[in-house]
Amino acid sequence: MTTDMEKIVLDHGSGGKAYFRLISDLLVPSFDNPILARLDDSAVLDVGKNRLAFSTDTYVVDPIFFPGGNIGDLAVNGTVNDLAMSGAVPRYLSLGLILEEGFPTDDLEKILRTMKNAAAKADVLIVTGDTKVVPRKAADKIYINTSGIGIIPDGLNISGHNARCGDKIIISGTIAEHGIIILIQREKIEFESEITSDTAPLNSMVQRIIQASDGIHALRDPTRGGVGTTLNEIAIQSNIGIDIYEESIPVKEEVAAVCRLLGIDPLYVANEGRLIAFVSPDHVEKVLDAIRRCEHGKDAAIIGEVTSGHAGKVRMKTRIGGLRIVDMLTGEQLPRIC
Ligand code: MG
Repeated sequence: MTTDMEKIVLDHGSGGKAYFRLISDLLVPSFDNPILARLDDSAVLDVGKNRLAFSTDTYVVDPIFFPGGNIGDLAVNGTVNDLAMSGAVPRYLSLGLILEEGFPTDDLEKILRTMKNAAAKADVLIVTGDTKVVPRKAADKIYINTSGIGIIPDGLNISGHNARCGDKIIISGTIAEHGIIILIQREKIEFESEITSDTAPLNSMVQRIIQASDGIHALRDPTRGGVGTTLNEIAIQSNIGIDIYEESIPVKEEVAAVCRLLGIDPLYVANEGRLIAFVSPDHVEKVLDAIRRCEHGKDAAIIGEVTSGHAGKVRMKTRIGGLRIVDMLTGEQLPRIC
């Protein structure tokens, strides 16, 4: 092991710098293979004549019910979205449940109903599963794992490795809503707000933009670690520089207000129904237009571009005209966000 970490700390689950190191220093070398080493949102597998996307994710969000959703639709949408980020059409999901002894059956039924509806909306089937129950305090209420398979349309090659100089960067909507509503609920912050989680399936949006344009190079959903961390991942994977413009990044006023109040940068707050697209410059208007026509895309905006300099780094032009480096998230802002 090429790492000096002695014990796992919460920061290793943040989605940021420590998490990235845990994965690259310990997990990837443990199973060393070229499919895993790509580190996209889903593995891409050649099976017979088909190319499949395969992805897994575990959901430990606390609280399990929150404005805009619950752990159930989060678990369906999250895996659907990770499949969709390779351009795949998600088809089948598995469901792994870990339940704490004493968990109310009513709550479980409610969560399963939500999952059924979310699966129907995303047009996927939950086709296999597993259930474990552990003694009180051995887990907290409920954890859910979903894995998924999708089919990648012929000829499509969308990956975090494929962003290139000149690409424009689109965000599909306002940022930071999921993380902020979880924070408000968890910390019981007294704040009158209409904020709800943005959890949503993005697969139909992805299919629409693929149909609209063959100039989409990279897609990613900025979940844990937020937009700031996601852009850093792609800057590293594609070995490109990124410039973003603070004034173009859409943030709802009340989300911005909570961020100011708590001293949080919305660039590092989790989203669960947004995507970032790297698009060739001559295609950007039609992709933006296609996203804006989608149910969750009306606030889409171009937030930056890929530059020839500062490979592997993200810079932001601030509202007041300054320039600052946007690093990966360091330190755990809020564990159990998803
Ligand atoms: Mg993802």
